[in-house]
This record gives sequence, C-alpha cells and structure tokens, in this order.
Amino acid sequence: MSTIYEMLEACTGKNQVFEQEPMSRHTTFRIGGPADWFVVPQNAEQLQAVVEACRSRALPFFILGNGSNLLVSDSGYRGAVIQIFKNMESFTIEGTRLRAGAGALLSTLAAAARDAGLTGMEFASGIPGTLGGAFTMNAGAYGGEMKDILRSVTVLDTQNRIRQIDVSGLGLGYRTSRVKTENWIVISAELELTPGEIEKITARMEELKEMRTSKQPLNYPSAGSTFKRPEGYFAGKLIMDAGLAGASVNDAQISEKHCGFLINKGKATAADVWELMTRVRRIVLEQYGVSLEPEIKLLGEFPELE
Ligand SMILES: Cc1cc2nc3c(=O)[nH]c(=O)nc-3n(C[C@H](O)[C@H](O)[C@H](O)COP(=O)(O)OP(=O)(O)OC[C@H]3O[C@@H](n4cnc5c(N)ncnc54)[C@H](O)[C@@H]3O)c2cc1C
Repeated sequence: MSTIYEMLEACTGKNQVFEQEPMSRHTTFRIGGPADWFVVPQNAEQLQAVVEACRSRALPFFILGNGSNLLVSDSGYRGAVIQIFKNMESFTIEGTRLRAGAGALLSTLAAAARDAGLTGMEFASGIPGTLGGAFTMNAGAYGGEMKDILRSVTVLDTQNRIRQIDVSGLGLGYRTSRVKTENWIVISAELELTPGEIEKITARMEELKEMRTSKQPLNYPSAGSTFKRPEGYFAGKLIMDAGLAGASVNDAQISEKHCGFLINKGKATAADVWELMTRVRRIVLEQYGVSLEPEIKLLGEFPELE
C-alpha cells in the first residue's frame, strides 16, 4: 500500500502536499501547531480525489479557507488540512451574475463587482475570508449577509457527489448554513448582484473601510469576533461592561479598541487564547447571566468549555 504522502500526491500532483505544516502560517491569528498533512488541490477534480482518498483511509480531514475564523490548537491537527485559498479562485461576471471558485477572497470579488458597476457586495469587502468560508458561516457585516446575494452553490457532499444547491435549500441563518451542518464542501458559487453606480459603490466601500479601521484592532492578528452575538446583546459591550477591556493571558488580550476582538500581541498560544476565552465567558455569565458562545471555529484538541 502507498504511504499517505504518495496517496495524497497521486491526487494533486507534485509540490501540493506538505508534511507537518505549521498552521500558524495559515491563520489570521498567527497561532496553531502543525497539521500532519497539508494539501492544496488545484481544482474540483483534485479536491474530490483528495477527499475520497482521505475517506478510504479513514484519515480525518479539515477544509481551510483563509483561516480568518479559526483557532488551531498548539498541538496542531492529526489529519489532512485541505486548503481552498489561493487556488480554485477564478471568477467570471456576466451581466449581474458573478460566478466564483470557493477560494476567491471576498475583498477581490467585491472589488471586481464594483469595477463592473454591480452593487450588493459592499458589506463583504472588508471581511478577510474566502467565498467558501463565507457561505459556511453565512458571513455578514453592516446589515448585509451572504444569503442576500447568493443564488446557488456547488458543493461536494458527504457521498463525494458534486451537487448544485439553490439558496433556498441552504438553510442560511445567523453564522450558520447547511454547508456547515451537513459537512458539505463549497467548490464554487453563483451570486446575483444589482446594477449600480461605481462612484456610490466605491463611496460605500470606503465608508465601511473607515468604520472598520477606526473601530477594530486591525493592526494585530485576530480571528474577528470571538463570540457570537447573544440574543438581545452585543458580546463586545458585555465584555467591556464587565471590565475586561485589556484583560490578558500572556500575549492573548481582549482588545481595548474593541472588546469583541481577542488579539495576539505577539507570541500568544492557543492555550492562552482558550484560557482568556474561558475567563471572559465565566465573568460575563456571573455578572450578566449571559452565556457567550464562540464564533471562532476550533481545530485540534481543546478542553471542554466550562
Ligand atoms: C479582522 C477580521 C474581521 C472580520 N470581520 C468579519 C465580519 O465583519 N463578518 C463576519 O461574518 N466575519 C468576519 N470575520 C471572520 C471571518 O473572516 C469570516 O467568518 C470568514 O467568512 C471566514 O472565511 P475563511 O475563508 O477565512 O474561513 P476559515 O477561517 O478558513 O474557515 C471557517 C470555517 O469555514 C469552513 N470552510 C472554509 N472554506 C470552506 C469551503 N470551501 N467549504 C466548506 N467549508 C469551508 C472551515 O472548515 C471552517 O469551519 C473577520 C475576521 C477577521 C480576522
């Protein structure tokens, strides 16, 4: 029988499979130990082959976009991380329809839509994720969310079949979707935008950029909002009101600029982040009776949340 390396390389071709790859290189938190295998398929066929190979050897696998919503444990991941980012990223625009690969960055697509005089994607221009990650999480900002502009997605289902799913069948809700609950893998998506004036679109994008830069700690590594918005509250405000602005565990810190963000001031480990998240949850629960649920995704081994 071939080694795992040979098996994965047979699916992707040369130089697309890496061993013991530090995940700190692939997450916006700049945190995370090594993935046993790191695989970069170049197209849907290679992706399908890699996934099938992993399943046939019972090798756990994880789909990675830009790692902008992710905390990877210090011990890393015992399995294959399959990256869909900087690959599978081509896109086309025909009329009001934008079709793109799952690896395309939202910022790239929003800029292309603007240049084509199409409105609808402005809200997404500052979200540092891929199209695939964005549909999985139904990413949103400033009153817009992915479900507003989606027509359909093409996914790889758990039977390794390629299927096209209409937006109505995707169960998109607050930071969730059937892509997530059914463990589908997004290959590409089709968005429906609206004709607009380039100047207005540009102005809106600039306005949102200014709002982000003035309110968010973008000069430090983070994974965006740490906790989901609890019904009737804002996580950042609860954390601030609990006196936790600037609270830290080693280099992991609750941002003083925006308490919804937990930042890495340099050498934070996943254990530091986890300890701080646990502390914040406990104090907010004690003071306000509100249970904060993590928005960031976890990969690897973590203790149970208390
Ligand atoms: C500074 C900053 C600001 C942010 N602002 C926002 C914001 O305003 N709004 C918001 O919603 N989010 C925000 N985020 C969080 C993050 O950018 C989004 O959740 C984004 O959609 C994640 O995309 P990604 O490609 O980085 O996914 P990853 O972090 O790589 O993965 C996230 C999840 O999606 C899954 N996934 C990724 N690609 C695929 C695929 N092709 N098929 C199936 N599953 C896949 C992964 O398995 C994982 O479960 C912010 C993050 C940062 C660092």
